[in-house]
Amino acid sequence: MPRRSRGPRGPSPAEVVAPTPWERLLPEMQRCARCDLASTRRQVVVYRGPPRPFFLFVGEAPGAQEDLQGLPFVGRAGRLLDAAAASSGLRPEEWGVTNVLMCRPPENRFLREAASSCRPWLSSKVASLAPQVLITLGANALEAFLPEALPVSSATGRTLRWGGRPLFPMLHPAATLHSRAFADRWRQDWASFAQALPGWRGSAAFTAAKTP
Ligand code: URA
Repeated sequence: MPRRSRGPRGPSPAEVVAPTPWERLLPEMQRCARCDLASTRRQVVVYRGPPRPFFLFVGEAPGAQEDLQGLPFVGRAGRLLDAAAASSGLRPEEWGVTNVLMCRPPENRFLREAASSCRPWLSSKVASLAPQVLITLGANALEAFLPEALPVSSATGRTLRWGGRPLFPMLHPAATLHSRAFADRWRQDWASFAQALPGWRGSAAFTAAKTP
């Protein structure tokens, strides 16, 4: 049978694949100019990981490397995070990472005003990626979800809840570079995380998330 030409009007409606919520969201985030950081950033740093991460880590703000490469946690703190995740048994396809701020603040100082401009994006990222477990890295990330859970020093290493899902606060990996006590705490918190992992993986939500 001869092939039917598509003609000048392009693909038929059945052939047009609607963009996913993430595909719609991403270019909007990449154009963001809701705060002054839009004029100093090189790029908007959105997310690194699979399209449906079961675990979503949320850090604070991109640094110099992230601003250059356009991906979160690709510098020194990122190497610590990747190493801890791998040694606790997390598989790359299970987890992703983002930040409260999507643009690098000058001198890497976390800016509260920028965090409130970025807050709706954070909610949209969580809604679109639909992780089952959130892990906050550092006080500013914890504050973005559960301000009443501060101080981070007493909140880390145990499971809290946010929006009906587990939220596990941890220290920021960069903190471990400056203090032996923080490095010890980081290791203990990852040990607690690794203990909780089989329970989370055994949950119905995990099975559902893996089923296409
Ligand atoms: N620190 C963060 O909080 N986020 C990054 O992406 C890198 C370092």
